Amino acid sequence: MTQKLQAPRGTYDVLPDQAAARRWIEHTAERLLEGAGYRRIETPTFEATELFARGVGESTDIVQKEMYTFQDAGGRSLTLRPEGTAPVCRAYVDHGMQKLPQPVKLWYLSSFFRYERAQAGRYRQFWQVGAEAIGSDDPAVDAEAILLLHELLAELGVGDVRLRLSSLGTAATRAAYREELQSHLRAHADRLSEEVRGRIDLNPLRAFDSDHPGTQEVMATAPRLLDRLEGEDAEHFAQVRALLDAEGVAYQLDHGLVRGLDYYTRTVFEFTSDALGAQSGVGGGGRYDGLIQQLGGPATAGIGWAAGIERILLAAEQRPAPEPVVDLYVAYDGPERRREAFVVAGEARRAGMSAQLELAGRSLKGQLRHAARLEARYVAILDGEGMRLMDMETHEQQDVDSAAAVVARVIKGRHPA
Ligand code: AMP
Repeated sequence: MTQKLQAPRGTYDVLPDQAAARRWIEHTAERLLEGAGYRRIETPTFEATELFARGVGESTDIVQKEMYTFQDAGGRSLTLRPEGTAPVCRAYVDHGMQKLPQPVKLWYLSSFFRYERAQAGRYRQFWQVGAEAIGSDDPAVDAEAILLLHELLAELGVGDVRLRLSSLGTAATRAAYREELQSHLRAHADRLSEEVRGRIDLNPLRAFDSDHPGTQEVMATAPRLLDRLEGEDAEHFAQVRALLDAEGVAYQLDHGLVRGLDYYTRTVFEFTSDALGAQSGVGGGGRYDGLIQQLGGPATAGIGWAAGIERILLAAEQRPAPEPVVDLYVAYDGPERRREAFVVAGEARRAGMSAQLELAGRSLKGQLRHAARLEARYVAILDGEGMRLMDMETHEQQDVDSAAAVVARVIKGRHPA
């Protein structure tokens, strides 16, 4: 027997029954973000590998271990996008968006690809809704971005949400801090996990993410980046915090908040939900004032976030309304009436109703059973005696003489006078 094929590990099918919940997330995000001046953008599923190597950072887990990279037939190295910020920034530069009024606010809902250990809430193809505000370093942009994600999670009913907040300062602050942290790690190298020790040179900040007990002890006495913020960096962060305070958004300062991408500067944040298990991150983001320049564009500030659709679905308490029912089912007796059935269904669809017709050669009785299973509101019956319309709630039947009459009758039934 030929072996049955399955979806690749870490991927899943979105089945029709699950589509409504996803559409509800999309519509909520659209309403909220477009209402705040964000406009939708869609970038290609794959990009030049170079974009992520430069944009996400050579030292990150994503670039080192998780990218789906391949060569196309023309010998170019391409990568399935592992995240959305670098592509949106590339598009910003490509399309000269720096000439538009700033900040340019863009949002997306797309799928991303990372070769990760697959488990509940962690997939190799996953979906994110994300927002990027590019072209202003005003702390108000940071506060608004955080507020919008906060609002989105609240509207979707994502339970037990916590916000962790920090600031990484500018690239210069971070570079000086990095050296200080490296000295601290080297001084206690014998107590660190092997992995953390191996990354002291490349990515010392990731040591804060470690769950290794020895490493955690060393990190408890490590210098803190938040304590090193000076001048404009400190002022910027104070203003972001003041705006969040004024809006009554609760957050915890977390000096160990190190997001897994290299491009962040200044504000970084993450929303977690206690309603989730081990994979508690629902969404997060931060400022990336150096990224666009790193991608070959002009010096441009930016901030953004992304939230995982699968995690939202896992943590959300609210559920969208069920799918709309079938307004009209067109049943007919014998293939010679098929054309007429198409006319009736077509007319109903043009009038904006959901209409289905028999597609499997069932008997008239079988068709009525099928219509009942579909919870059709009305059934048009075409047989040797002409056309009748049956109200599936009352089972009353009425003669009708044309497709237009069917449509008029169904509309009247939908909106009783
Ligand atoms: P990141 O792009 O890593 O900052 O992730 C932002 C959000 O995307 C996370 O908080 C998760 O909700 C979601 N996410 C990231 N990676 C995955 C994954 N492999 N599977 C499912 N969701 C993910």
